[in-house]
Amino acid sequence: MSTADDKGVAFVGCDGKATAGAQTQGRRREVVVSGRRVRTVDIHAHCAVPEALAMAGEEVQPALMMSRPVDRLRAMDEQGIDVEALSINPFWYEADRDVAAKLIDVQNEKLAEVCAATPDRFVAFATVALQHPDLAVKQLEDGIKKYGLRGVSTGGSVNGMELADPKLHPFWAKVEQLGVLVFIHPQGTAELEESGRLNGNGVLTNTIGNPLETTIALSHLIFEGTLDLYPGLKICAAHGGGYLPSYGPRSDAIGTTFPQRMTRQLKKKPTEYIRQLYYDTIVFTPEALRHLAAESGPGQILMGTDYPYPWTSTSVDHILNTPGFSDDEKVAMLGATAAKLLGI
Ligand SMILES: [Zn+2]
Repeated sequence: MSTADDKGVAFVGCDGKATAGAQTQGRRREVVVSGRRVRTVDIHAHCAVPEALAMAGEEVQPALMMSRPVDRLRAMDEQGIDVEALSINPFWYEADRDVAAKLIDVQNEKLAEVCAATPDRFVAFATVALQHPDLAVKQLEDGIKKYGLRGVSTGGSVNGMELADPKLHPFWAKVEQLGVLVFIHPQGTAELEESGRLNGNGVLTNTIGNPLETTIALSHLIFEGTLDLYPGLKICAAHGGGYLPSYGPRSDAIGTTFPQRMTRQLKKKPTEYIRQLYYDTIVFTPEALRHLAAESGPGQILMGTDYPYPWTSTSVDHILNTPGFSDDEKVAMLGATAAKLLGI
């Protein structure tokens, strides 16, 4: 089945591929806050580079492709998204050094090409092979300096290795030195998948596996002292930071309840680190967004959509319609903070 919508926007097949001649000429929603046109930025938008996937023997999902981003631009226009910050979920963390080196180089180069083709609509996070930390340092530097990418994306763990593992200290040191934003996106909680505890109805591998992975990753970055060692890090966690900002005070309480169990002295209370991290808005309700902002500070929140995964198509309205935010806070969440962090 093909459809042509009544605005003459595009011709799209059921497989999500645009047919020949399709163009994005639909109405573009322009977001305005108290009379001011606001540039909106989506911090959480997925894509794929087929050439890189092929090097790992994987196939691309059509909706992730950027060769003809007509569907994506139409969705952005309809939803009032001006700029997407593209990221790629790691599928290369098991790759050996040679494959990882070539794969990431191709991938970052293609990401740069996508951004260069439509520079007013797309920026991208560099990808790095964290399983080879010294290589990742070079890939990060190349991604930023050679390819002009605006930050770096990571998984919530690296093949069982925590992001807080000391082996990754050189990576965090380089991130801090470059001053770029890190976008952490989980890929489920693999250890629980093996046990079968996430089987059954509800896709719990994703529903709770993803936010749990993020919760564990951020907790280790706090409790293992990574954020003390590299205080200049700018980290944005997907899906509102998982469960951590929902229940941050427990992380403070452990230090007073069982001080003898704390093997490392932190420079701050855990909830203070929560207020220095960034989070996307994928928390679904006004109350959840209000609570996230209360725990993190409204200046730490960046709009996200999770495109092309259909979790939400109303990220702009979610921010606009959540009671209690000032106009400046809404503008910041809609895009101003992300634009500053990404150099847009
Ligand atoms: Zn996502």
